Amino acid sequence: MSATDGSTHEPHKIVDKLHRPLRDLRVSVTDRCNFRCVYCMPKAVFDKDYKFLPRSELLSFEEIIRVVKAAAEFGVSKIRLTGGEPLLRHDIEKLIRWIGEVDGISDISLTTNATLLTEKRAYALREAGLQRLNVSLDAIDDETFSAVNDVDASVQSVLDGIENARVAGFESIKVNMVVKKGLNDHSIVPMAKHFHGTGQILRFIEFMDVGNSNAWDMSHVISSKQIAELIQTEMPIEPIEANYKGEVAKRWRYKDGGGEIGIITSVSEPFCGDCSRARLSATGSIYTCLFASSGHDLRETLRQENDQALHEKLKRIWTTREDRYSETRTHVAVLRPKVEMSFIGG
Ligand code: SAM
Ligand code: SF4
Ligand code: SF4
Repeated sequence: MSATDGSTHEPHKIVDKLHRPLRDLRVSVTDRCNFRCVYCMPKAVFDKDYKFLPRSELLSFEEIIRVVKAAAEFGVSKIRLTGGEPLLRHDIEKLIRWIGEVDGISDISLTTNATLLTEKRAYALREAGLQRLNVSLDAIDDETFSAVNDVDASVQSVLDGIENARVAGFESIKVNMVVKKGLNDHSIVPMAKHFHGTGQILRFIEFMDVGNSNAWDMSHVISSKQIAELIQTEMPIEPIEANYKGEVAKRWRYKDGGGEIGIITSVSEPFCGDCSRARLSATGSIYTCLFASSGHDLRETLRQENDQALHEKLKRIWTTREDRYSETRTHVAVLRPKVEMSFIGG
């Protein structure tokens, strides 16, 4: 039974060295994807010879659940499933159902490119207990979108996925658009116009220097301020309060009542001070920062030891954490190795 069902779950909350609690866990269920977004899995690196993980190296659903239970013991209430493309993982509905049964978990969401989100799948996800969906879409015209996804996926295939989710009963679908200068910044206003008045919240994400494959530098970043100014010239907007402390998107609403947008300011205004997220890779490593060089292996602990050892390890990992990468980043990509986004999820 989950906490929302009235159980008496009392977590033993823990904080890291900068006094940040552990609240969210992002779970990457696969490193594979049917897209090759140029800012995430560029074809030059993720080509036909690229060695994706063999099945035996992925955590099983049983192992993921053991980690979710341990995390819930320490105060995690939100789980986000991601990847790679999470809908490529067979029977993910079963995992969602099991997560929903963990004491203390009150919010389950999933981030997807939506091309595999048929109506049947959307109903199955909803029935399994998935509460929220974030869909990634980086342009509203096929030419630009293909230049981003690099596999000729059409805009319509994503819009169909969003529509299927809406029909299946997902209420606040958020649409994420990563903005990279020279790639899709001309799509900012057309995307805003498309989603204005639909009830779907469009969120712009500043292009980040995750991993070592995407050749990031600051000159490719369009700042949140520039994004807001561009929209402002066409459709007046005003800032609104965050829904809760630690919300990553800065919220704006259209003055004409056409709904709201969000801008995720990871580069121009970092939010490390409120960062309460841990990430579990598909192979069972915990990453305490999106920009970490290495993770803390839990798979061996899961496979060789008992839950007590797992709890102790997770506690040690979080209570010794002091990451605040975005607050210290420089204008060019840091040369030390960083984990790829497709490996630990966004
Ligand atoms: N495949 C799914 C999808 O695209 O929604 C889930 C995984 S994807 C890694 C999660 C999110 O990370 C997506 O919204 C994607 O656009 C974002 N992302 C990937 N690389 C990024 C980068 N370099 N900067 C900012 N966001 C990025
Ligand atoms: Fe795949 Fe998502 Fe990365 Fe695009 S952003 S390559 S859809 S994992
Ligand atoms: Fe959290 Fe690391 Fe991002 Fe800062 S840079 S908000 S610590 S994930």
